[in-house]
Amino acid sequence: MTGPLTDTGFVAGTITFSVVDGPGNRFAIFLQGCNFDCVVCHNPQTIPHAEGTHFLTTIDDLLVKIRKAAPFISGITVSGGEATQQAEFVHAIFSAVKADPQLGRLTCFVDSNGACPQSTWELLAPVMDGAMIDLKCLDPEIHRSMTAQPNDEVLASIRLLHTLGILYEVRLLLLAGVNDDPALLRRTGEWLAEVDPHMRLKVIGFRAHGARPHDPPLVEPSADQREAAATLLAATPGADFDICLI
Ligand code: SF4
Repeated sequence: MTGPLTDTGFVAGTITFSVVDGPGNRFAIFLQGCNFDCVVCHNPQTIPHAEGTHFLTTIDDLLVKIRKAAPFISGITVSGGEATQQAEFVHAIFSAVKADPQLGRLTCFVDSNGACPQSTWELLAPVMDGAMIDLKCLDPEIHRSMTAQPNDEVLASIRLLHTLGILYEVRLLLLAGVNDDPALLRRTGEWLAEVDPHMRLKVIGFRAHGARPHDPPLVEPSADQREAAATLLAATPGADFDICLI
């Protein structure tokens, strides 16, 4: 799904200063609509695709906001929902930022679940500087149980973005008892190392606050479990990952 015109899109919200949406201090744009339905989602209100004029925002409106923040930020990040569901709009935002004399120095990043065709990245690559990709699980069945979708496009996106030189980071969300099995984490490390042994990884422990109720309740990994997962990934043979644990 894309916005009706490339100079308008469905925006759920913006954050003027974010330090968790890519490198440095960033202006973050959250698009409405996602192709996943993750049990761990902290922003489930951004999942439904917008219709009509609700959430409709123009590039000009965004540029006004970005210009105000520009002296204090190093870049912008488009997140979601799922940013790539409105790829033409994202392309238009990045193109406008890069063409603006006041904003051209800002880096343009995408925060994505990675579930989009190769053609989406081929569209965005010329105007983007980096991507953060979530990998909910290497195992396709567990991935489907967590997101309601397969993971083949996610894995293909990670490979492609690395090949294109614009994969900034892969984010691994740990859900205790679901995707933190040591053998699975070892396989995940091996798969990631095959793509890039120096990959930047962010290991994120699930936090129940803000997520929808689930039966049975979803379990947050303890500090020890998160540490153990990061240690396992760091021990991947042949890998020298840059791991950040949060
Ligand atoms: S990909 Fe992100 S926004 Fe979409 S459902 Fe999953 S956690 Fe929520």
